[in-house]
Amino acid sequence: FLSLSSQAKMSRPVQARRLEGIDKNIWVEFVKLAATYSKVNLGQGFPDFPPPDFLKEAFVRALSGENHMLHQYTRAFGHPPLVKVLAQFFGKLLGRDLDPMTNVMVTVGAYQALFCCFQAFVDEGDEVIIIEPFFDCYEPMVRMAGGTPVFVPLRPKAPKDGKLMSSADWQLDPAELTSKFSKRTKAIVLNSPNNPLGKVFSRGELELIADLCVKHDVLCISDEVYEWLVYDGKEHVRIASLQGMWDRTVIIGSAGKTFSATGWKVGWTVGPSRLLQHLHTVHQNSVYHCATVAQEVVAQGFQRELELYGKPESYFIQLPKELQQKRDWLVQSLDAVGMKPIVPEGTYFLVADISEFKSDVPDVPNSDEPYDSRFAKWMVKNKGLAAIPLSAFYCGAHKNNYNHFIRFCFAKEEATLKAANDILQKWKREKTSP
Ligand code: PMP
Repeated sequence: FLSLSSQAKMSRPVQARRLEGIDKNIWVEFVKLAATYSKVNLGQGFPDFPPPDFLKEAFVRALSGENHMLHQYTRAFGHPPLVKVLAQFFGKLLGRDLDPMTNVMVTVGAYQALFCCFQAFVDEGDEVIIIEPFFDCYEPMVRMAGGTPVFVPLRPKAPKDGKLMSSADWQLDPAELTSKFSKRTKAIVLNSPNNPLGKVFSRGELELIADLCVKHDVLCISDEVYEWLVYDGKEHVRIASLQGMWDRTVIIGSAGKTFSATGWKVGWTVGPSRLLQHLHTVHQNSVYHCATVAQEVVAQGFQRELELYGKPESYFIQLPKELQQKRDWLVQSLDAVGMKPIVPEGTYFLVADISEFKSDVPDVPNSDEPYDSRFAKWMVKNKGLAAIPLSAFYCGAHKNNYNHFIRFCFAKEEATLKAANDILQKWKREKTSP
C-alpha cells in the first residue's frame, strides 16, 4: 500500500508547464564540446586576456582592506557607490539628470537584467518582437514569462564589387518590421551592437524602431552590453536618447563586457522610475542583490572612467582599439582560406560563411539538425577549433534559413588567434592538395 502511494506521487509531472519546450540549451552542448575537443576555443564569448590592472588591483584592495562591510549585504537594488557613479556616467551620456536610487538598478550580469524585464513587463498573451539573429536567451525568457516572441529577421544584401560583406549589409525591411507591431505587442528587444553579427544599428534604423514604439505604445528593452565595442569610428546611438523613447526604454549593460570580467556577473539597468520600480519587484523576489565586493570594484572602475572620459588612457577607448586590431587579424586569416567573414562594426564576434568548406562536411538531406551546427561539431572534433553555429541565434522555424555561417569570438590573446590561423591554414592546404 505504501509503495503504491509513493509511486502515484512520483508519476506527477515535476516541471512547471512554463519550462516545457525550453529545456534544451545550445550553450550546454557547445561549451562541453569545446572543453572536450578544442585546442583553440573561439566559441563562447569571453576574453582569454585579463581585465585591466587597475581593476584587478582594486579587487585585491577591496578584499583585503579595512572596510570589512564589503563582505556583507548591501542595498538590494545596487551598492550605493555603484548606482551613484552609474547615474553620473549615464547621465552624462544621455544628457539628463539621473537619480541613482530610482533610475539605476544593479543586477547579476546583464542576463538577470533581461530576466527582470521580461518578468516585470510581459503578461500571458503579450507579444515581444525579437530581431533575428538574436542572443539566444531572449526567446526562452519571453516564453517563461508567458509571452509570445514574434521574430523579424535582418536580411542580408550582397555587397557590391566583390567586397567583403559587412554587418551593416544586414538590415531590417521597414515594411516587414512595421507589420509585426500590433495591439498585442508589449515590447521589442533591441541589441545594438548586436550579438552575433556585430551590427551597429544606424541612427536611421533606430529612428524607425523608435517611431513604431511610440506609435504603438511599446516598451524597448535595449541590450547595450557591447556599447563600447564599436569600430572604424562608428557611433553607438542610444535609442533612449531619441524622441519619445526615454520613458519607454530600459538600457541594459554589463561590467563583464565593459571591463573584460565576465565572471564577476555585475550588470545594470538604466531607465525611468516608472519602469525600474517593477524591475525592483522581480529583483527583490529573486536574487535580492549581487556580490558587494564585485559591485564596489566596478564602481571604482567607473569612477576612473568618468575621470578619464574621452582621454586616450580610458579603458573604454583602449579596449575597442585593441579589439579592432584583433578583428582585422581574424578577418584576414578567414578571408585567406576562403571562409568569408562578415566584417563586424562592433562587439567581439565575427560571423563567417562556411559554404566553401561544404565538401569536407557533406550535407545530410532532411536532417533535423541545421547544417552549420553539424559543421561546427565536426570542426571542433576534427580540427580542434571551436565556434558557434549561426542557426543557434534563430528561432526554431527559421534555423534553416541561415545555416551556412558560424560565429567566432575574437576577444582573445594574439597567441590564441595565431593558433586559430594555423589550424585554418593547415586545413586549407589539406583541402587543396589531398
Ligand atoms: N546580452 C548579450 C547580447 C550578450 O551577448 C550577453 C553575454 N554573452 C549578455 C547579454 C549577458 O551578459 P552578462 O554576462 O553580463 O550576464
